[in-house]
Order: sequence, then C-alpha cells, then structure tokens
Amino acid sequence: MLKTAIVTDRAYLAHFAGRSHPERPERLAALLTMAEQLSRDKLIRIAPRAATRDEIALAHREDYVDAVVGSAEFDHFDFDADTHTCRESYQTAMLSAGGVLTAMEAVLDGAADNAFAMVRPPGHHARPDRAMGFCLFNNVAIAAKWAIKRRGLERVAIIDWDVHHGNGTQEIFYESPEVLYVSTHQYPHYPGTGSTREIGAGAGLGYIVNAPMPAGFGDDEYILVFDELVMPIVRKFRPELIIVSAGFDSHYRDPLGDMRVTERGFAAMTRRVKRLAAEVCGGRIVAALEGGYDLEGLTRSASAVIEELGRDSDEEIAAASGGERAGELVARVAQGVGRFWDLG
Ligand SMILES: [Zn+2]
Repeated sequence: MLKTAIVTDRAYLAHFAGRSHPERPERLAALLTMAEQLSRDKLIRIAPRAATRDEIALAHREDYVDAVVGSAEFDHFDFDADTHTCRESYQTAMLSAGGVLTAMEAVLDGAADNAFAMVRPPGHHARPDRAMGFCLFNNVAIAAKWAIKRRGLERVAIIDWDVHHGNGTQEIFYESPEVLYVSTHQYPHYPGTGSTREIGAGAGLGYIVNAPMPAGFGDDEYILVFDELVMPIVRKFRPELIIVSAGFDSHYRDPLGDMRVTERGFAAMTRRVKRLAAEVCGGRIVAALEGGYDLEGLTRSASAVIEELGRDSDEEIAAASGGERAGELVARVAQGVGRFWDLG
C-alpha cells in the first residue's frame, strides 16, 4: 500500500463568505468527519502550516496581497459578486495555500508517496491581481511556482477536473513551458474561459490544454478524455510532480454543475493519474481540494480518491467502455494542441 498524507484542519472552518453561500464551512466539516472515519494504516495526518507572504507573492501581485490583508479589518468584505470575506478569511487563505505547500513538502521530502490537501477557500479562479469565484489565493499555482523556484523542479503538471475552468491557474502559467495545465470542465459555463483555442502563448504555447465539455458528460466520457488526451500529453511532458486541482462539483449531485461524474469516476481518474505518476515522476501526486458543493457527493468522492491514492498501482486499468460522445471533443482538442504533443 502507498503512504498517503492527508493535510487538513479545523481552522479551515473559520472562513465565512455569508449565509447561504455554497462555499461554506460545512463542506470542510463534512470532510473532517469523513477523514476521522478512515482507518487505513498508511494514512498520515499532517497539520497545515500557513504560507508566508513571499510564497503567496510567487503567484500574486503585492498590491493584491495587501488588499486581502486589508479585508481582515472588516466583518464582511466583497471582492466580487460571489467572493466575500470575513475577518478570519485572510488567515484561512494563508493556511489554505500553506496546506497545499505542506502536502508538497510531505511528498517531495519522502514522508508520503502522495498527498491530499483538503483546504478552503479554494484557489483556481484566483488571478494574479484579483479574487474571483470564491477564491482568494491560487493554492495550486503557488504550489507549482514554489516547486520550481524553491525546490528546483523544472516541470510540474496541473490536472484540473473541477467542473469550472481554472482561469486563474491558466492565466498565471499562460506563457510558461515549466507548467503544463490540463483542464476538463463544463463549457460554456462559469467563468467563461477554457475554450480549445486557449493553448498558451510565447514560450508557453501548447502548455495549456483545455477540454471544454458539454453538460451531461459522465464517467465514461471523462475516462475517454483522460485515456486519449490527458494521459498521453502529461506522459510526453514528463513532469517531476503532478498536482491535481480536485474539484468535486463535476459530481452528478452537485448544484453548481451539470455533469454526471460519480465517485467511481473520480476513483478511475485518480487511478490513471497514479499510473502516470508512477511512470514519470516516482508516483509524486499532490491533490488539492477546489470546489464540490453537495456534501454527500463531496465526501463520497474525496473518500474514493483517498482510497485510490493508497492502492498499489500495478493492477490492470480497464479501457473506457462507451464514452464515444467525447470522441469529437478529443479530436477538436488534438487539432489545437496535438502538434505539440505528437497526438497525430
Ligand atoms: Zn468549481
């Protein structure tokens, strides 16, 4: 069995975006309860550290960091129509980014084979200079930058299966060949970005891969997209570490998405990422929680991912059965980025 680190803490309950806001403390409370019930031997529980200001500034502009610091003076502050903070939000966001860094340290230093940081607020919509879509700091972008700048890695892949496109992550790495960003997301949908025409620019041309999915795709279509697109491209990139933006709002029960992924689907995607990581980067995977707003869908899916992370990866992976509906999408994505990755 593989050693999996779970990084989480009750301190993540402190950020409060307002009554009836979907990104609510109960999400983390449900995950904490789930995590307490996990009885696996090889599960390491690690408390998160806070990120430092310098670490946050790896992905964000100083004046924006100042704005988030300043928001702690108000009981309630609105960054945009759906991104709100309370006095504790800044500290919670520092701990959210830091939780992913804690998971990175556990994996890079060998304390764990892989890790799952169950953190909030989420991060993938956060832009270099502004909060957006429930996100204050871009946790995975900070982690990828940190791996490169502070740990000397040369290539990091980010796989994002949240139902929303990670526009912030894409923006931060749009011209960077050091970070490959691959996203499956509902489209058209919030935040509006993530078309097949967005493929990076300059030295980063080809290092942004978007698979915009019509509403209604489920396990079979996701698996086909992973087998025919995500896996071959990431394999070719040969990252030294894989980060997963693990959002569970693509679950069929989720109120903010219209996809049909089940917990078995998330386990199947995890199995593929694990196989890939075993091939190219010594199994090093750090998953970071993004969205997921139905408590049952969220906890069942996160639990399935954790279980899969711990399983030995030498078992057979069954090919996608069905999912042909996604064939046209795969062809369209390959038309845009295929030339960079020998997809034919
Ligand atoms: Zn989302």
